[in-house]
Amino acid sequence: MYTLEKSKQAFLEAKAYMPGGVNSPVRSYRSVGSEPPFISSAAGDRIYDIDGNEYIDYVLSWGPMILGHAKSEVVAALQEAVLRGTSYGAPTLLETEVAKKIQAFMPHMEMVRMVNSGTESTMSALRVARGYTGRDKIVKFIGCYHGHSDCLLVKAGSGLATFGVPDSPGVPAGVAADTLTVPYNDIEAIRDLFQKEGHAIAAVIVEPVAGNMGCVPPVPGFLETLRELTTAHGALLIFDEVMCGFRASSGGAQKKYGIKPDLTCLGKIVGGGLPMAVFGGSREIMNHVAPAGPIYQAGTLSGNPIAMTAGLATLSILQQDPTVFKRIEQATDMLCEGLRERAAKYNIPVQVQSVGSMFTLFFSDKPVLNFDDASACDMEAFKKFFHYNLSHGIYYAPSQYESNFMSAMHSPQDIEKTLAVAEEAFATL
Ligand code: PMP
Repeated sequence: MYTLEKSKQAFLEAKAYMPGGVNSPVRSYRSVGSEPPFISSAAGDRIYDIDGNEYIDYVLSWGPMILGHAKSEVVAALQEAVLRGTSYGAPTLLETEVAKKIQAFMPHMEMVRMVNSGTESTMSALRVARGYTGRDKIVKFIGCYHGHSDCLLVKAGSGLATFGVPDSPGVPAGVAADTLTVPYNDIEAIRDLFQKEGHAIAAVIVEPVAGNMGCVPPVPGFLETLRELTTAHGALLIFDEVMCGFRASSGGAQKKYGIKPDLTCLGKIVGGGLPMAVFGGSREIMNHVAPAGPIYQAGTLSGNPIAMTAGLATLSILQQDPTVFKRIEQATDMLCEGLRERAAKYNIPVQVQSVGSMFTLFFSDKPVLNFDDASACDMEAFKKFFHYNLSHGIYYAPSQYESNFMSAMHSPQDIEKTLAVAEEAFATL
């Protein structure tokens, strides 16, 4: 009998000490109206809660654990590393090794700056774009989430969409005024905007595969148009690949779609499950960052040796076996196709959208191309589907506005089990 009694108690106590009982809003399960399982451990593609439940994990810490949890090589490297001390605040050989690895996957990242979260990465990349161009305005797309820095909390997806808070209190109006927003995949709207404001725009920031309104691929011509317009108007193009880097393809969305951004933001996988992210681009642009140049950016724990160790071990494994990306993508395709078939059997209208190893099952009868489409999904059906799965050992992201992820550890048997549960869940709808 599935129970979350211990998790319920733990949540109650946590709420006395942390807002909503959590340290990041989507973890609270408010969107699906229940208590979240409290996690005690994870290994491979499984995650375990304090009530003794085991789940096949398609959240993977919201993306990072592409090799699965507690990958033995990564754990061994970390065990060795901690014995040498956990932080020095001084240069190490590791940082250059990680930078080289990143460049091997994404050649446009000739130089990088390491930071501690995706939020820092996009925030800093925007400062570089503004400092470099001498302009203030930025463009983002409705439903894209780039972390929680002030100017990016405007029409963002992910937790903000889940909770229906498009703009957060505490973001100064003056800051928000410099953020221009356009619907995702709307080529005409971005052309119009550049015609009017092109001279004032420092950068366009985009999730080249959107993951924070669920998984939404770019329509043909969308990314190409962004590249063309930014180049023509002297603005920078920033690919926020915090989620889709190493997932859309081995070289992220930029490799998959053959577009060279001016700056790239990475997080999640690049830190192997530890707090680490980077932004980077051409030498010419990155040499404007302090201390090489005047644009200030810094961090006490940036380039932290433990985070570098996890990132290096993860990237090394991915680099040694380049077929891993295709295999995970094939597993994702197999799962997505199976979900479509099972839903069709029960006449449930769904769109299962995926790119590489990201996927979302939308309860919608038409493809989801933008935030409005995502918002029009049947959220009640999603909730029922979600809860049936959770209580039967399948751990999906607890919101329609999120992507799910596949790892190298999800086996064909796990996918079969996932599909069997999905079929039962569809039958109850
Ligand atoms: N950019 C994207 C595309 C993301 O998906 C996220 C987080 N999900 C962020 C930025 C922010 O990263 P972090 O949560 O590490 O600050």
